[in-house]
Amino acid sequence: MHSYPDLHLYIDGRFRKTAETLPVLNPANEEVIGALPIARQTDLDDALQAAERGFRIWSRTAPRERSDIIMKAARLMRERIDDIAFSVTLEHGKPYRQGQLEVIRGSEFFEWDAGECQRLYGRAIPGAPGIRHTVLRQPIGTVAAFAPWNFPMSQPARKVAGALASGCSVILKAAEETPAGALHIAQAFHDAGLPAGVLNLVFGVPSEISSYLIPKDQIRLVAFTGSTVVGRHLTGLASDHMTSVLMELGGHAPVVVCDDVDPMQVGPICASRKYRNAGQVCTSPTRFYVGRTQFDAFTNSFVRSAEGIVVGDGLENGTEMGPVANDRRLEAMSELVEDAVSCGAELRAGGRRIGSKGYFFEPTVLANVPDTARIMSEEPFGPIAIINPVDTVEDGIRQANKLPFGLAAYGFTHSAANVEKLVDGVETGNLSINTLEASLPETPFGGVKSSGYGREGGEEGLHHYTVVKNVSHKIAID
Ligand code: NAD
Repeated sequence: MHSYPDLHLYIDGRFRKTAETLPVLNPANEEVIGALPIARQTDLDDALQAAERGFRIWSRTAPRERSDIIMKAARLMRERIDDIAFSVTLEHGKPYRQGQLEVIRGSEFFEWDAGECQRLYGRAIPGAPGIRHTVLRQPIGTVAAFAPWNFPMSQPARKVAGALASGCSVILKAAEETPAGALHIAQAFHDAGLPAGVLNLVFGVPSEISSYLIPKDQIRLVAFTGSTVVGRHLTGLASDHMTSVLMELGGHAPVVVCDDVDPMQVGPICASRKYRNAGQVCTSPTRFYVGRTQFDAFTNSFVRSAEGIVVGDGLENGTEMGPVANDRRLEAMSELVEDAVSCGAELRAGGRRIGSKGYFFEPTVLANVPDTARIMSEEPFGPIAIINPVDTVEDGIRQANKLPFGLAAYGFTHSAANVEKLVDGVETGNLSINTLEASLPETPFGGVKSSGYGREGGEEGLHHYTVVKNVSHKIAID
């Protein structure tokens, strides 16, 4: 039998409560499932001091030893998969199986970075005779990390993995709506023997915590995943203090479906991916630009798949899509659909809230959506797909590029020439052809344009958590 954890902050190697709490709700029924302690200024000061001490220890811990502790924590997370998935489903609403997959993915982030931390190579630069130049990568310092609510376990995992593998200490502020995923991570590291102060977990009013922590001297990197608006604000705060940033921001991903693919095959693949996590994914395929000759067939097969999706409580067997995570998303979905229809879009499926208890929204398809509709420029971050026709692959690329975002983009085609056009032309950090997988532990993930700065994952993932030091060494003093 699983239960939702008793919620705590984690500071200096200890779990702690505070007097003030926030209720945590189950989005499937709006019932209170936990009381989240809110950090006061004294808690944040304690976290800062602990992280400073933690950094001194951890940055001088051998990479192999760091790797061993991270791997042990990842093993514990895998062993606790059912407990963690239960908590994640309860606080976020996603289907239980997707909660389990999230735990596996989060563990993989730790495992990948635990390996990479042993390969954080520098280089030697040839110098004049008697002089050696050595380039080293050293941990940047204490990281203030801010993780969102759409993947309660794997979003914090990605940031904590990069920071700890690189030898940094972290103050993690995870999402107040979904705190248990991050708490399970802290518990696993506590049990794995991570030295006190290296990882600290706080919750509170996001703007108060970020504006208090970011100006502090100890904070050398701000790592944030969330909306472009908040990312810009935090980048501004950080730049006032010459603090580095790693920003993983909004998406609104385009999908160019070329005329040469079978629309009856590709439509269901796209629909199934669109409604994963109720569309609350920064890489979620959202704007489908489909070759005009295949447009009707693609749209019909997409709509059929969308209408077949079983929506319900993530803990019920057979549920394929849960509620959206909070009432803000529910309201945003209704407003975006209403606005699009009033601008002339065709509502081909869904479009309404389901029931009156829980934040359920129908898998929704809008077709022939004019550019004047808000949804053409605002990331829906929910279960709404947009399907519009295009005349050529070049037209699809033009449509794909017209927004200021560039996180993930997709193409479906069998033509090598089309692939080359997409690779050359689409402005994005991640392009996937004939697959809707956009981000893996072993590949660098991040955006261009307003989708952010920096990369997580791959070999590049640890670079942002380090600084480069050049050492020029003249062997003899003469
Ligand atoms: P929001 O912009 O208010 O918050 C997004 C995230 O940022 C939340 O986790 C929140 O706690 C945090 N946040 C907000 N203000 C902050 C501040 N001043 N300092 C530190 N953290 C702060 O919006 P929301 O309603 O929670 O989410 C909606 C939007 O956020 C979506 O439209 C989507 O674009 C974006 N989002 C993106 C991701 C992602 O994976 N890139 C995840 C969640 C939300």
